[in-house]
Amino acid sequence: MSAVYKGDFGELRIEYDMIDVTTIGGNIPDKEWDYTDRQGHRHFYSDTEDTYPTLSLRHSTYFCGDCHDEHTDSWYVCRTCGETIQPGTKPDPKAGMKQYVPGLPEFRLNGEPISPERARELLGDQSEGTS
Ligand SMILES: [Zn+2]
Ligand SMILES: [Zn+2]
Repeated sequence: MSAVYKGDFGELRIEYDMIDVTTIGGNIPDKEWDYTDRQGHRHFYSDTEDTYPTLSLRHSTYFCGDCHDEHTDSWYVCRTCGETIQPGTKPDPKAGMKQYVPGLPEFRLNGEPISPERARELLGDQSEGTS
């Protein structure tokens, strides 16, 4: 994807890389999920900001010897008894469908890369210039 502007400055080209955001077989929350834990507490998916009103999200950060970086694990526990709960998921129906979003634009003036600020200046000059 690209756009070309011509002016006194020459040719300004703006190029966008299209980024592939296709999901590869991901899972989405199963809204039908309904589970009762060992203490008899019921857990379910809620279509509100608080997706799992009966669960608390726990995090743990640990150092990974394989990639020499920190990883964060997160999991849900029952708010009442602390049992680890795995909310139900189902395969994403959109998985595998091709989806693209425009990435960061690149600006080129007569073939030379320039900064976004410079490009904005040039375009600003152009719109205020004589027609
Ligand atoms: Zn790792
Ligand atoms: Zn519980």
